[in-house]
Amino acid sequence: MIFDNVTILTMDPQRRIILNGAVVVSGRKIVAVGKSKEIVEKFPEKRRINGNGNILLPGLYNTHVHMAQCMLRGISEGKPLDSLSNWLSQRTWPLQGSYTEEDGRASASLCILEMLKAGTTGFVECLLAGVYGFDGIAEVCIDSGIRAALGRIAMDISPETKEKLGMHPGMYETREQCLTGAIQAYDRWNNAGDGRLQVWFGCRSVSDGHDPSLFDEVGRLARERNMGITIHLSEQESDIQLAHKLGFRSLTEFAHTHGILGPRTVLAHYCASTEHEWELAARTGTSISHNPANNSTAGWTPAPVVEMMAAGVNVALGCDGAPSNSNMDVLRDMRIACHSARVSHHTRNVMPSETVLEMATINGARALGIEDQTGSIEVGKCADFIIINTDSPNLTPVWNPVSSVVFAAQGSDVDTVVIDGRIIMQGRKMLTMDEGAILEDVRKRYQEVAKRANVSGIAPRWPIT
Ligand SMILES: [Zn+2]
Repeated sequence: MIFDNVTILTMDPQRRIILNGAVVVSGRKIVAVGKSKEIVEKFPEKRRINGNGNILLPGLYNTHVHMAQCMLRGISEGKPLDSLSNWLSQRTWPLQGSYTEEDGRASASLCILEMLKAGTTGFVECLLAGVYGFDGIAEVCIDSGIRAALGRIAMDISPETKEKLGMHPGMYETREQCLTGAIQAYDRWNNAGDGRLQVWFGCRSVSDGHDPSLFDEVGRLARERNMGITIHLSEQESDIQLAHKLGFRSLTEFAHTHGILGPRTVLAHYCASTEHEWELAARTGTSISHNPANNSTAGWTPAPVVEMMAAGVNVALGCDGAPSNSNMDVLRDMRIACHSARVSHHTRNVMPSETVLEMATINGARALGIEDQTGSIEVGKCADFIIINTDSPNLTPVWNPVSSVVFAAQGSDVDTVVIDGRIIMQGRKMLTMDEGAILEDVRKRYQEVAKRANVSGIAPRWPIT
């Protein structure tokens, strides 16, 4: 196939932008990139797909996702819950803890459908609990065609700590269950779907009060298999006090001491991180998932991403969970990454659109450990790309295709998605998932889950008649 007549944001080492360009795909790979005229002459036998002057760029990466929370979209708004812990213990945990495996699969299907339709071609799931049914969700990933690193939950909290946190019984697993579950999932699914699926450890926050030896064991098991690890870390100011209590300067130092850091690790949020933590992350090749939309919805201190990147840290983007950040739209969150950095520095001279596009593409691929295979449009790499339709008022005219993508485009402008050489969506029609059936299924389930969980009162502050 030749995708021609497109503006290509290659994200290659020179960051070339090719006007009136074409990409040739053979099997799973990109075999040529260049000017349309020359490419079409060189490959006359190939089927041509006319890009109509639209913008072609690498597929986007969402490096922090809670798939189970897509069915809980927007529940953190409305009648106030006064703290994050109440919001977790009174709403999110009881609802998620009451899921059946069919509910877990339905929420994951919705999440993946939404991500693909908004141009995300690869993601990191951070906390996949046993109750959601790992196998069913892995099957959805494989069938949809997306790339995924599925973090199987790892925790070790005592029954007393569980009570103190108000954790729903459905969310609770023993250390043994978690680690055995993760290794079984790894043995069965890692590298499935022609290598598109990875199985990682998804550690809960240190602040949950785990036995610290859990992290040593996770680090060891992960290193033995070259498995990835993801964890929420240095999220809020209270994490600094917690680190001091544990005898460390920071939770990053705690994680490093317990063998958690390295090029196969993604730390999420990092809002309250400090200078020595950035140095540690940079030195160990650890990636950060920056979640600007979620952080700003929650009113958290903006993560110091400008400083982290200056310190040499690989920073990618993540949407986090739908209860707070109601959309899995990386294009929108790219814009919010610019906004939050510029607001916190009181200048428009930080976080240029080029940098944020790197975060969403090549940096995301690096966070998943696959930057040698994806993340840019280059010969020899896998054919993972999206085409943004610019034939719309919000994308007319295009003076600067980078700023148009970062500041003007939204998920619904994505027309075509190609992953591993396979067309996943064309003309906004999904070819690998039954969109109508997925939406119908979730609409049938979400209130049933609320009934089962005995959760009510999720409503606006205004009277409902
Ligand atoms: Zn999260």
